[in-house]
Amino acid sequence: MNWLTNLMRPDLRNLTAYSSARTEAGGFHPDIAIDANEFPWPPFGSITGQGPLNRYPEPQPRALIQRLAAVWGVTAEQILIGRGSDEGIDVLLRLLCRAGEDEILICPPTYGMYKVAAEIQGAKLLSVPLTKEYQLDVPAILKNCTANTKLIFIPSPNAPIGHLMRSKDILELCTARVAKSLIVIDEAYIEFSDMPRGMLDELKNHDNLVILRTMSKAHALAGERVGVVIGTPELIQNLRKIIAPYPLTQSSIRAALDALSPNGIVQNIERRNVIIAEWERMAKLLPQSPQVVSVYPSTANFLLLQTKDSKAFMQQLAQFSILARDRNSNIPNTLRISIGTPEENNLVLKALGITQSSKTTSPRLFSKRRGTKETVIDVTVNLDAPNFLNIDTGIGFFDHMLSQLASHGGFGLELHCKGDLVIDQHHSIEDCALALGEALKAALGDKRGIARFGFSAPLDEAVANVVVDLSGRPYFVFTGNFPGEKVGEMSSEMVPHFFRSLATAMNAAIHLTVQGENTHHMVEASFKATGRALRQAFQREGSPDNIPSTKGVL
Ligand SMILES: *Cc1c(COP(=O)(O)O)cnc(C)c1O
Repeated sequence: MNWLTNLMRPDLRNLTAYSSARTEAGGFHPDIAIDANEFPWPPFGSITGQGPLNRYPEPQPRALIQRLAAVWGVTAEQILIGRGSDEGIDVLLRLLCRAGEDEILICPPTYGMYKVAAEIQGAKLLSVPLTKEYQLDVPAILKNCTANTKLIFIPSPNAPIGHLMRSKDILELCTARVAKSLIVIDEAYIEFSDMPRGMLDELKNHDNLVILRTMSKAHALAGERVGVVIGTPELIQNLRKIIAPYPLTQSSIRAALDALSPNGIVQNIERRNVIIAEWERMAKLLPQSPQVVSVYPSTANFLLLQTKDSKAFMQQLAQFSILARDRNSNIPNTLRISIGTPEENNLVLKALGITQSSKTTSPRLFSKRRGTKETVIDVTVNLDAPNFLNIDTGIGFFDHMLSQLASHGGFGLELHCKGDLVIDQHHSIEDCALALGEALKAALGDKRGIARFGFSAPLDEAVANVVVDLSGRPYFVFTGNFPGEKVGEMSSEMVPHFFRSLATAMNAAIHLTVQGENTHHMVEASFKATGRALRQAFQREGSPDNIPSTKGVL
């Protein structure tokens, strides 16, 4: 019997997994699916382009697995996807541990779910504390292991402290426990560390090494529940037999694929860098509070603080409506805080009497893909990086106008549109306006100003006057009359239509008045003046703490 089968629960060795008609049909994609008793219409409120919510999702979504495999440089057969890495912990325990007989080993202070999952499965718990330096006590771990120690769970970066475990110690455990235990390295926060590949490259050297990854922390997807087990194809095949038949929802699969798209990764890295910079700032400033004794070394998106009295500290924060995590149960009088946006961090510091505001502010970058039957648009806007422009809609004059809007608007714009131009430019222009408006609105986040901004742009005999109000109430008023039917290859009637769509998607009021004799001048002045008015509206004003309250006016 091979070593893994030998480690598995004997009653699961010959388990036949649940199989649906679609699994059994392999690659067959029917036009009419009457195999799974689904409702034939999508539900109320479903958004087009989100995947058919009335249909069962793929049990192990192929596209997502392939994308993860490509991003991490492993094979698809090494990946199991589940509802968060918490489900990974659970299925590993269920596959290997007989209730009342087998055991797992943990090294406190550690993540709390290992113990809970073990208790649910009825597995026994061995506990070998970390050393004084909070590293693995390899000799003590090996001494405590028995023939029934099936799993050793090690978070690295550690939770709740946040520092990395030494690779050398992990590999020593793998070697010493070969064919006896799985060494499970839980890398929930690895993307924030300076070794973002974690232990991935050691998988090929150690059959009993297993890695847990999650999209909850560094990929901003805690609400969608996507986690991954990476191990040998043989282990993964067995876990696939016992995991719930459809662990991920259609929308979580979609959200994970979006997050891992090239644009998603770019946005994520930019934001992660802000978190890392803010982590440093907080680690430096927090000891100014008389309540903070020291800050534990961390390389994750949180800090563990040694306080004089963690309960009093929690109460002080609560007065400012701030909730942190009391870790007194792990290490006496410690408290953990997650790194938030620069603006949130400022408020945390303020609550502790430290008034040093961040010079950094939340990145105002947003990417999205907007697809309909007629057009597919990839758009990225960056309100703080005016210098990148890359626009291709297939309509030359429109490209020129969009670049006027962005450069006068003071924002970076990358926009690619594949549309049905052979039929008409109508769809492309309208959908570009909608995609751009939605992206601008999202990039502005909660900092929508309520002031009115206006600009006049003359261009030879023509002049455009624009007033915008990012009020949350879409409205468009156009006054003007273009003498020419076309400008470049673009029909001039599409100009007010563009601005109306933009106003709708941005939730803005835009009033545009244009006069002149030359249509080209009038159109160009309209885009320029709107860009200039938006530039004023996008400006950050005053102190970065000055954000409209979330309970506030808008
Ligand atoms: C947050 C966390 C997890 C859980 O991740 P999910 O994928 O959201 O279930 C696992 N391990 C550690 C150490 C964590 O901190």
